[in-house]
Amino acid sequence: MKIDVLGAGPAGLFFAALIKRANPNYVVRVFEQNAPDVTFGFGVVLSGRALSFLSEGDPDIASRIAPVGETWTDQHIVHRGETIVIDGAGFTGLGRVTMLSILRDFAASAGVDIHFNHRVAPDAHEDCDLLVAADGANSAFRDAHAASFGTRVVDLLNYFAWYGVETSYPSHTLTFQPHGAGAFCAHHYRYRPNMSTFVAEADPGAWNAAGMHAMDNEERRLFTQAFFAEALHGKPLISNRSFWRRWRLVTNDRWSHKNIVLIGDALRTAHPSIGSGTRLAMEDSIALWRALREGGRDLASALARFEAERKPIRERLNNAAVASIAWYEDMAARMAMPSYDFVMDYLLRTGVMTPARLERDSPDFMRRYHAWKAGSA
Ligand SMILES: Cc1cc2nc3c(=O)[nH]c(=O)nc-3n(C[C@H](O)[C@H](O)[C@H](O)COP(=O)(O)OP(=O)(O)OC[C@H]3O[C@@H](n4cnc5c(N)ncnc54)[C@H](O)[C@@H]3O)c2cc1C
Repeated sequence: MKIDVLGAGPAGLFFAALIKRANPNYVVRVFEQNAPDVTFGFGVVLSGRALSFLSEGDPDIASRIAPVGETWTDQHIVHRGETIVIDGAGFTGLGRVTMLSILRDFAASAGVDIHFNHRVAPDAHEDCDLLVAADGANSAFRDAHAASFGTRVVDLLNYFAWYGVETSYPSHTLTFQPHGAGAFCAHHYRYRPNMSTFVAEADPGAWNAAGMHAMDNEERRLFTQAFFAEALHGKPLISNRSFWRRWRLVTNDRWSHKNIVLIGDALRTAHPSIGSGTRLAMEDSIALWRALREGGRDLASALARFEAERKPIRERLNNAAVASIAWYEDMAARMAMPSYDFVMDYLLRTGVMTPARLERDSPDFMRRYHAWKAGSA
C-alpha cells in the first residue's frame, strides 16, 4: 500500500511512524512545507504524567518523550491576584520542537520517507492509495473539498497569542485579570526547567479597552508584557511568529472523501482549556492506525470504522470545548464571583468534572473550598 501524509506535525508524524512500523512493506511518505525544526509556538502540555495514552500507540514513543518533559501535579488559578491551588491534575510539558524531533526520529527509524521544504498543492498526490491530510487547522486539502467533508469554521469572540518566557512556574497556571469592561487570561506552564509557554487570551471588552484593535503586533506584545508583568516575573515576552488572532473552531461532518482522510487539527480544533490539541491529534493517529489494521486492505471500511469509533469521543470533547469557550467568552462577568466560587465555576464549566470527582481527585482543594464556604457563610 502507498500512503502519503501531508504535514509533519504531531498527527502526521505519529500516524506515519505507527503504520510503517506495523507494515514495513508499505510505502509511507510525509510531506512538510517547512524545514525541520521550523515551527510555531513554544511548549505543549500533555495531560497524564505517565503519558499512558501514547503507550496505546507504541510504548517506545512514551518512553522517549517522558524523560524530556517537565511534570507537575497541581494547577494554579490566579483570580484577581489570589492564587488557588488545585491538586490532582497530572501534566507533562515539553518543547514542541523537541517533541517533533523525537517523532521525526521515530518515524525515520521505522523507514518513513520524510520530505521537508515541500508544500503540497491540494490537487496533488491523488495517485496514492491513501492520503492522510494532517496539515493543521488551516488545511488546504480540507478547504479544497470543504463541501464533501461538510466543513464548518466558526470564528470565536476571544483573541489569543502564543508566546514564550524565560522563567519557571511551579505548575500549570491560569492568571485572570480584569481590564476595562472585559478580562485577560494567561495560560502558562514550564516546558524546560527555565522556559515556559505563555498563551495570552483577551475577550473583546479587554481587547477594545486596551486599544489592541488599533495596535500592530509588536505593540500588542509590549502591551501584554506590561499588563502581565507580575505573572511574567518582569521578563520579556518572546515571540515566535506569535500573532494575535481569534480562536477558530473547525469541525467536519464527514471525515473522509474518496481516498483522503482528515486527522488532527485539520479535522477539529480545540480550545487548550479542555485538553491539549496535540494529545487529541495523536489520539486521532492511533485511532486511524488501529482502524486500518482491523480493516486491512479494504480502505473504505477502515475509514468508516475510524469515523465510527473515534467520532463519539471527539463529539464529547467538542461539546466540552463549546462549553469551555462560552465560559472564557464570559470570563469578565464570572470574575465578579469570590475567588473559590470562581474557581469552582471554572472547574465545573464543561460538565465533565463533577463535585464528586473533585472530592476524589483533588481532596486538598476541596478541603480548602469547604472551609472557605463555611467561613463565608
Ligand atoms: C495558541 C495556541 C496554543 C496551543 N497550546 C497548546 C498546548 O499547550 N498544548 C497542546 O498540546 N497543543 C496546543 N495547541 C494546539 C496544537 O499546536 C495543535 O493542536 C497540534 O499541533 C495539532 O497537530 P497537527 O499535527 O494536527 O497539526 P500541526 O501541528 O498544525 O501540523 C500541521 C503541519 O502541516 C504542515 N502543512 C500545512 N499545510 C501544508 C501543505 N500544503 N504542504 C505541506 N505541509 C503542510 C504545517 O507546516 C505543519 O507542520 C495550541 C495551539 C495554539 C494556536
